[in-house]
Amino acid sequence: MRRKSFICRPLALVLLKIFHYSGSIAQHFAHLHASTGFVPTMGALHQGHLDLVTRARAENTHVLVSIFVNPAQFNNPEDLKKYPRTLLADLEKLRDAGAYAVYLPLPADLYPSTLAQVSLNLHPLDSAFESRFRPGHFEGVVKVLHRFFSVVQPAHAYFGLKDLQQCLVVEKLVDAFFPQINLHLCPTTREPDGLAMSSRNMRLGPEARSHAPEIYRQLQWLCRNLPLFGTNREITVQALATHGIETEYLDWVNLPDLNPAETPGGRQAILFAGYLQGVRLIDNVLINP
Ligand code: AMP
Repeated sequence: MRRKSFICRPLALVLLKIFHYSGSIAQHFAHLHASTGFVPTMGALHQGHLDLVTRARAENTHVLVSIFVNPAQFNNPEDLKKYPRTLLADLEKLRDAGAYAVYLPLPADLYPSTLAQVSLNLHPLDSAFESRFRPGHFEGVVKVLHRFFSVVQPAHAYFGLKDLQQCLVVEKLVDAFFPQINLHLCPTTREPDGLAMSSRNMRLGPEARSHAPEIYRQLQWLCRNLPLFGTNREITVQALATHGIETEYLDWVNLPDLNPAETPGGRQAILFAGYLQGVRLIDNVLINP
C-alpha cells in the first residue's frame, strides 16, 4: 500500500537533495563516503531500479542516485533521442524509496574539456556481444562511471545483473581504479510474466508487449536443456521470430570472459539481445551463479 503523504508534492521533493555540479557533490559527500551507497541510472525509473535503491538503503545511511542519459554510451543517435525521460516521476519514486540525494549532472561539468581519457583494458569484453553491436558503448560507460566514482567516492555501488556484460566491465573498472568500493551485483527484477524490467519496455505497444515475455520463457527452456543448446538455439530463434522478435545474439557463455560454453559446468550464462517493434531488448539467465 502506498504511504499517505501529508506533505504537498513540491515541498516533499525539496526534501530530496539535488546536485548538478561535481564540485558541490564532492564537497557534500566529503564526510559521507563511508555511509554512502551509490546507484547510477539513466532515469525512467522502474521497480528494477527501485530494488537497487531499496537494497542500498538497507546497507547504507545515505543513498545517492544519479540520473544521466549519457550521450557517450549511445552509438545510435535515434536511440538516444527516443530514450524515455520522466524526471519528475523519477524524483517522486526516489523520495518514496528513501533516497537521500539525486545527482543530475550537467554534461559540460561532468566532462570538462581538460578531462583525461580513462585507460582501461576491457579485453575480452570489448569485442563481444554488446561491444560488437554497440561500438563505443562500454568506453562511454567507463568514462562516466570513472567520473562518478571519483567525484562521489561511495563505500558501496549497486548494479543490476540484467546488464550482465556491464557488470563485468564495472568489476574491471573497480578492480583497476577503485578497490575501496564494494560492488554489489543485484538480481534482475522481472514483471509478473517474466519480462525483465527495462526503461525501454514503455516504448512497446500493447501487442508487442504481449509477445515480449517469450524471451525469458525461451531462455529458461534453453537453460533446462543445456547439452542441446546448439540445436535448440535455432528452434528458439525461429520461435522468437514468430512473436516478432528478431534475435541479434543468443549465446551460451562462460563467465567472466564470455567465451563460448560447450559443456555445462562452472559459472555460465545465456545472453540474449534482440529487437521487438524496433525496441532493443536484452536479457540473460545465469547458470550456477
Ligand atoms: P539503466 O537506467 O538502464 O542504466 O540502469 C541503471 C541500473 O539499473 C543498472 O545497474 C542496471 O543494470 C539496473 N537495472 C536496470 N533494469 C534492471 C532490472 N530489471 N533488474 C535489476 N536491475 C536493473
